[in-house]
Amino acid sequence: MNSLTEKYLDIVKKRNPGEAEFHQCVEEILVSLEPVLAKHPEYEKAGLIERLIEPERIISFRVPWVDDSGKVQVNRGYRVQFNSAIGPYKGGVRFAPNVYPGVMKFLAFEQIFKNALTGLPIGGGKGGADFDPTGKSDGEVMRFCQSFMTELYRHIGPTTDSPAGDLGVGPREIGYLFGKYKRLANSYDESITGKHIIYGGLNGRTEATGYGIVYFADCMLKANGEKMEGKKVVISGFGNVAWGTTEKLDELGAKVIAFSGPDGYILDEAGVTGEKIDYFIELRNSGKNICQPYADKFPGAKFIAGKKPWEVKADLYIPCAMQNDIQLEDAKNIVASGAKFMCEGANMPTTNEALEYLMANGVIVGPCKAANAGGVACSCIEMGQNAGHTVFSPDQVHAQLKDIMVNIHDSAAAAAKEYGLGYNLVAGANIAGFMKVAQAMMMQGVV
Ligand code: GLU
Repeated sequence: MNSLTEKYLDIVKKRNPGEAEFHQCVEEILVSLEPVLAKHPEYEKAGLIERLIEPERIISFRVPWVDDSGKVQVNRGYRVQFNSAIGPYKGGVRFAPNVYPGVMKFLAFEQIFKNALTGLPIGGGKGGADFDPTGKSDGEVMRFCQSFMTELYRHIGPTTDSPAGDLGVGPREIGYLFGKYKRLANSYDESITGKHIIYGGLNGRTEATGYGIVYFADCMLKANGEKMEGKKVVISGFGNVAWGTTEKLDELGAKVIAFSGPDGYILDEAGVTGEKIDYFIELRNSGKNICQPYADKFPGAKFIAGKKPWEVKADLYIPCAMQNDIQLEDAKNIVASGAKFMCEGANMPTTNEALEYLMANGVIVGPCKAANAGGVACSCIEMGQNAGHTVFSPDQVHAQLKDIMVNIHDSAAAAAKEYGLGYNLVAGANIAGFMKVAQAMMMQGVV
């Protein structure tokens, strides 16, 4: 790390004490931008990085609601509107018990570069609450979402900020959030994406993130003279992203042999295919957040309690769960298995030391901000669909998604090559995303 990076990181640490995830994500990005900043001294003069690491706006608010027993509950809600250089803020809303400003800021910061990589006009933002939807009734979730939106609605809008789903926020939550937004704002517009197709949602948005990850991984394999067909894949998670990923992998002839939940992982050597894929998502939608019942239902599948799936030997690993899922010891397992590829599905699923270890040992890594950008890209297409009062067909959407993912891969690979870094998609994605935002910031003056 050079002295300029140290200076910027120091600012981040002092201004955001104790927010380890945010520090981690800024460090990962700034280190890879060192050659860019050396080539563009004008950015330092313009205080560009100082501005980039400071969110444009952070909103934090009380979310009171009444549970089924009549007791009043209070959560804390957030929206971090990080950077609007290339478009209105765009990014999901996460409901999870571990949500706090450090997680919100890291997600919003990542989102700036991810959104820039899509090539679409969207800035970076993220929101959420320390609310755990697991085990809550529909009524409780509805009351929570309505209370959350009662504050959030005044900060969002079609040209200001457009939230969508993320962990803990699926079709049910989006429906409640949109219903309340529409009533409060008296406007039926594209302020929320990830809607159901019967009320303005985009055909293909649900599977977009997962499909996009597989399109991206496919580009990685092809660029290295390999193909997806016949590959054994281990993933983590069993939510929407994991589901879309599994479905597309299956379609391309690869086999998911393990997936995980918070209670352990499932090893299914026969592969998660056909009705098993449907059951997989049914399990997630049950709200129980456990994967053990899969092993009870499908003989041959084994449930390994309390362990992570990274100990299973595979050709390709795709973490689709949470941040920091892959720690150094997991990275060692992955390297020991002889795998050549890891493609990040979740946001920041790998710790910086695990990432370094993987790359130093020859594993080709597809970084999340590039690989999982298909979800937000389709959200932006949904905004366009709504604004144009029209409906796009699934074929139109899938074709556009595939093009976007191939472009992201190619621009990340080209940026790395331009800086003499070889086929380093981690640095390349950071550089390509940054350059777009940096140029827009320079053109717009000190704002
Ligand atoms: N939460 C998703 C992400 O991490 C999607 C955001 C969106 O569609 O706005 O990119």
